[in-house]
Amino acid sequence: MTEHPTTPSAVDSHALALYVHIPFCTAKCGYCDFNSYEGLEHLVPEYTPALRREAALWAPAARDFHVRSVFFGGGTPSLTSLDDLAAIIATLREQYEFDADAEWTLEANPTELTREHLAGMRALGINRLSMGVQSMHDDELTLLERLHSPERVVAAVADARAAGFDNMNLDLIFGLIGQPLERWQETLERVIAFEPEHLSCYALTVEPGTSLFYRVQKGLLAEPDPDVAADQYEWTRVRLAEAGYAQYEISNWSKPGRACRHNLTYWRAEPYLGLGAGAHSFFIGRRFANIDAPNRYVEAVNEAFEARAASGTTAMRQIAGGEVPDRDTLLADAMILGLRLIDGIDIAGFRAQWDCDPRTTFADALARHERIGLIASDDRHIRLTDRGLLLANEVFVDLLPEPVADPVPTPD
Ligand code: SF4
Repeated sequence: MTEHPTTPSAVDSHALALYVHIPFCTAKCGYCDFNSYEGLEHLVPEYTPALRREAALWAPAARDFHVRSVFFGGGTPSLTSLDDLAAIIATLREQYEFDADAEWTLEANPTELTREHLAGMRALGINRLSMGVQSMHDDELTLLERLHSPERVVAAVADARAAGFDNMNLDLIFGLIGQPLERWQETLERVIAFEPEHLSCYALTVEPGTSLFYRVQKGLLAEPDPDVAADQYEWTRVRLAEAGYAQYEISNWSKPGRACRHNLTYWRAEPYLGLGAGAHSFFIGRRFANIDAPNRYVEAVNEAFEARAASGTTAMRQIAGGEVPDRDTLLADAMILGLRLIDGIDIAGFRAQWDCDPRTTFADALARHERIGLIASDDRHIRLTDRGLLLANEVFVDLLPEPVADPVPTPD
């Protein structure tokens, strides 16, 4: 087992991660089922103030927390003007307490990135850039309906380095339809040559509602081949280890000390607060998600903000419904998220966080998967084996509690 910064230290119950969703994109990519939209730029002038208002609405509830990380995700946050980004960051800094070494990540699309914009984002305090590269082959980028070219990636990475970004993630997709192992190998080799601090490599999934899904449904494209994807994944694990990257999660690798602090919050089931259309939160013991549609999100925030001004109360009104998950669900979520980490579940840490021993609570499911070689455990950790990493979903579904018959109540 690798000694890696993913091993949880004692849980800091006052640490918080902030997620800020920017839902705008120049064009919708063929495989994308994120809450992102093309052609809604006219909403930007209302959206930025709404984000700032929502941040202010939540601030009293976060008074006892210190923020360890901020993640601008999307959508395409790198489309945000420097003035808007400065205004959002200023509001966050005014309203929340930040660790001096907080991680500030922003997702960028190479298509429109300019040197000036990169330098401006860096000057505003963004200290980690996550770029959607996906492939270094023109035809594969066309298949994915991405607008950029491999040459644009080369230029954007160089510009980001010149702007001072010394902590960079590059996102890649393998298991593309009709993609032989060698072509994935070429992409990964070219990307390793950029020497990014972090790499995320995801297998292509054909999500319902995407244009890729309809092309597959109509027989215009074949389904992705899971056996080829499994071979590509296994090769990736070996190659990235050789190149000095430690795998710390099913789909994530980093140079020493460069694991994504923000995403570790999710995998450790620690609190996070999501701002913006469709953003999810796990905060003050509740899970909730904002309204997806940006225009309705803006209306809901403005109503909540005006209601607060009228009543003088400092409490946040729900922008969207929430649920108080039952304990079995919370424990299963924590197990599933924790098993995504290569180090797996730290048994002592889990006991301290949840006041129960995972080996007892999940004894049957763990024994079943240990017998067939998908799970391994010792006195300190429970983790997926190499084979378990390939078949993780089979383990995860087995950890879920039986569905409850009664609907979960919605909080006021
Ligand atoms: S740029 Fe990212 S968020 Fe936007 S459509 Fe493409 S994959 Fe989705």
